[in-house]
Amino acid sequence: MELFNLKDHSEKVSFAQAVVQGIGRDQGLFFPDHITPLDNIDALLDLPLVERSQKILRHLIGDEVPQLEAIIADAFTFKAPIVEADKNIYALELFHGPTLAFKDFGARFMARVLGSIRGDKHLTILTATSGDTGAAVAAAFYEQQGIDVVVLYPKGKISTLQEKLIATLGKNIKAVQVEGIFDECQDMVKTAFDDVEFKKTVGLNSANSINISRLLAQVSYYFEAVAQLPKDKRDKVVFSVPCGNFGNITAGLIAKALGLKARFVISCNANDTVPRYLQSGKWDPHATIATLSNAMDISRPNNWPRVEALVKMQGWSLKDFAYGSLSDAQTEQVMQDLYKKTGYIAEPHAAIAYKVLSDNLKDGEVGIFLGTAHPAKFKSEVDRILNIDLPLPKALEDTVNKESLSVTLKADYNTLKEYVLKALNLK
Ligand SMILES: *Cc1c(COP(=O)(O)O)cnc(C)c1O
Repeated sequence: MELFNLKDHSEKVSFAQAVVQGIGRDQGLFFPDHITPLDNIDALLDLPLVERSQKILRHLIGDEVPQLEAIIADAFTFKAPIVEADKNIYALELFHGPTLAFKDFGARFMARVLGSIRGDKHLTILTATSGDTGAAVAAAFYEQQGIDVVVLYPKGKISTLQEKLIATLGKNIKAVQVEGIFDECQDMVKTAFDDVEFKKTVGLNSANSINISRLLAQVSYYFEAVAQLPKDKRDKVVFSVPCGNFGNITAGLIAKALGLKARFVISCNANDTVPRYLQSGKWDPHATIATLSNAMDISRPNNWPRVEALVKMQGWSLKDFAYGSLSDAQTEQVMQDLYKKTGYIAEPHAAIAYKVLSDNLKDGEVGIFLGTAHPAKFKSEVDRILNIDLPLPKALEDTVNKESLSVTLKADYNTLKEYVLKALNLK
């Protein structure tokens, strides 16, 4: 697989290089400049998840990573069922993995790919999270030989449960709460990647959704969703994706480029830079607002250039996207309405995707919205809004009772650098 830096087409890397480097010169994202469609989609849809994903990812990645098939079998050990949540509308439940969020797919795949291609090199994963990424990455890399993980998250801005999942592991997982917002955490990570010496000293790698391996893993479940539909419903699928950094929808669009028939709905919360851009043609990010759907509290989505590149490459149009955004008040209303109507419990991210989908679904189409997190991950909000007492899954119950091991740092790059060098005994 050949990938190019979207900001500098002369920088060309293999899949393995892109995974190790994470990001290219000038913070440019790696992306292929063509995607060869699959020619046997119907047959692929008849296969089970792991076998189908092995074929799709082998097709995309080519003959790099000899252990690819084993990696996929080891990473995708949980189901991604579609569940009818309303008439003609299904939830694709991506939250049955170890940290109960869709990010388990990408993070587990990436951890194993990196483990397989790093050789003897020590690596440090530095990642900024607005919640679920950090948890998924921490769990995926926990106790991986030769790889340390530093997770930055904005203090007080992620749920207790999310924090516990990140901060209670210890060992090779260092949790850092930053006195600031997510965008500042992300800026610190970007600065670290520009610090050539530091990058080399610690063997820096990013595991956030800019890493191409995570996106490729996520392509798998779009096929899995369609495979579960009756054959006569497979041609009129509309996916609604709750978007934050736009990694998830990029994966969906790669699936489309591979030949999966579907159209896409972009669903956002009040951080609506992209919906406003699609409406007005003006890119005008506002300050990030804290919302109920905190994993989508991002006003400068860093995968957007990939979406634009793909749209251009495939000869699609930005006009083909349906889109919408919901306030917190609307999100609560939708959660209540859906629960009353069908009994389906959606947490805030899924609820937004459901609503924007149902507003945009046409006669004869089948809607699938992505359930990106387990409702229990947002237990206090879900309980309050729906007036229920959601049981915690066993895995989470154990975690909640553990002590948090995070350190608190200012939103300042040099402070972070000092901390990392010390924590990894490199100074
Ligand atoms: C990360 C996340 C999102 C946003 O996904 P992107 O790939 O960043 O667009 C949506 N919902 C939940 C629950 C998440 O954790």
